[in-house]
Amino acid sequence: SFTLAIVGRPNVGKSTLFNRLVGKRLALVDDQPGVTRDLREGEARLGDLRFTVIDTAGLEEATDESLQGRMRRLTERAVEMADVCLFVIDARTGVTPTDEVFAEILRKKSAHVLLAANKAEGRAGESGLLEAYSLGLGEPLALSAEHGEGMADLLQALIPLADAHQEQAVEDAPRTDVDIEDDEVELPDWTPTRARPLQVAVVGRPNAGKSTLINRILGEERLLTGPEAGITRDSISLTLDWEGTPVRLFDTAGMRKKAKVQDKLEKLSVADGLRAVKFAEVVVVLLDAGIPFEQQDLRIADLAEREGRAVVVAVNKWDLETEKQEKLRDLKAEFERLLPQLKGAPLVTVSAMTGRGLDRLHAAIVKAHEVWNRRVTTAQLNRWLGEMVEAHPPPAPGGRRIKLRYATQAKTRPPGFVVMCSSPDKIPESYSRYLVNGLREDFDMPGTPIRLWMRGQG
Ligand code: GDP
Repeated sequence: SFTLAIVGRPNVGKSTLFNRLVGKRLALVDDQPGVTRDLREGEARLGDLRFTVIDTAGLEEATDESLQGRMRRLTERAVEMADVCLFVIDARTGVTPTDEVFAEILRKKSAHVLLAANKAEGRAGESGLLEAYSLGLGEPLALSAEHGEGMADLLQALIPLADAHQEQAVEDAPRTDVDIEDDEVELPDWTPTRARPLQVAVVGRPNAGKSTLINRILGEERLLTGPEAGITRDSISLTLDWEGTPVRLFDTAGMRKKAKVQDKLEKLSVADGLRAVKFAEVVVVLLDAGIPFEQQDLRIADLAEREGRAVVVAVNKWDLETEKQEKLRDLKAEFERLLPQLKGAPLVTVSAMTGRGLDRLHAAIVKAHEVWNRRVTTAQLNRWLGEMVEAHPPPAPGGRRIKLRYATQAKTRPPGFVVMCSSPDKIPESYSRYLVNGLREDFDMPGTPIRLWMRGQG
C-alpha cells in the first residue's frame, strides 16, 4: 500500500506524530538484520485513508558523533521505501542547518515531499512556519502532533498523492481512529475503482436556477449513487457521472424548501453557500441573466476566491434573452468591474431549463479544475521570471534595485508561488499584480486564484 516516511532531525516530534497516526495499532518492528532495525513501521489511518507509515525513530538514540552519518543513511533508506516523505521541522526553532541538510537529501532523492512545521500550536510557531518556505519544498503544513492539530490539512495534502497511487487501500468500514480536529473538514468519500469525484458547488441567489440546473444535469446523466441528503448538515450533494467525469455536486438549494420567510431564506442560502464553498474544488456561481451581479452574488464569488477555489461564472436563463450578443458584452464588462479579483474566470451562458450550454459549462468546470491543480516546473518559472524582470524591472527604492532571485511553486489547489527577493516589503502591490497576471497568461491559468508570496532569503 501507500507508504509515508516521517523524516527529520531528532526532537522535532516525529515519534509523536507517528504514534498519533498509528494510534493503538501495534507498530511492527522489523528485525531483519541490517535492514530496518532503526525504522519503525506501522499501519496508519487518517480519516478514510489507510497507509503504511515509517518513522526514523532510531535517530533519537544516536550518539552525537555518529549522528550525521546515521541520519543520512537512515533517511535515505526511509526515502527509498516510501512513496511520500513527510519532512518535519520544528516550527518553534525554525529552520536549522541540520534541517537544510535533510532538505538537500530529500530534494535529490524523493519524488514527493510534504513539508510539515510541527509544534505549531499557538503563535510561537508562526515565524518558523514562514521560514520553512525557504527550504524550497513547497508550502509547509502547520501541525501539532502533540495536540492533534493540522491532521485534517495533512489528510487533504495526502489525498491527491494517494489518488495518484494505484494500490491505495480502501477499507470496507472505514472509521477514523485519529481525531480530525478541524470538524469543518469533511472526509473524502472513496470509490475504489475510480478517481475521486470532482467536487463542485453550485451557488447563487434563490431563484437563480440552481435546482433546475442540477435536475437538468441529472436528467441527462446517469445517476451513480442516488440523491443523498445530509452529507453535510444542511447541504445536499449528488454524485454522478457527467459526460464521463465523476462529479459530486453540492446543491445548496435544498435548504430553500425548509425556509418559510423570504428574508430568513436569504440568510440561510448565504450561510449554506458558504459551507458548500468550503467543500468544493470548483465553485459555479450561478447568476440570473435578468438580475446578475446582485450583492449576494458578489459576496459569494468573492468568498470563493478568498477560499482559494476555482471559479466558473454561469449566467442562467439565457433562453429569455433576446439581444444575446449585446447582453454578453455588458455582462463581461460588469464582471470585470465588479469582480476584478476573479479576473480570468470563465463566464458561460446557460439555460438550465432547455439544457443549452451545459456542455460548455462542463468543459469550463473540468478545465478550471485542471488549472487549479496545475504545477509549473521551477525551470519554466525561472525562465519566465527572467523575462518578466527584463520586460519590466522591479522598482529601485532609494536607488537600490530590488532583485528577484528565483521563483518556485509552493503549492497547488490553488497554485501558489514564492518569489525570493531582496527587500520583499518594498515590492509594490502593482508589481505583484504584474507578476500574477503574467503567471496567469503565460502559463494559461484561467479560472483559478493564484497566490504569490514575496520572501526575503534567510
Ligand atoms: P434555485 O432557488 O436557485 O434553486 O432556483 P430554481 O431552480 O428553483 O429556479 C427558480 C425559477 O427559475 C423557477 O421558476 C425555474 O423554472 C426558473 N428557471 C430556472 N432556470 C431557468 C432557465 O434556464 N430559463 C428559464 N426561463 N427559467 C429558469
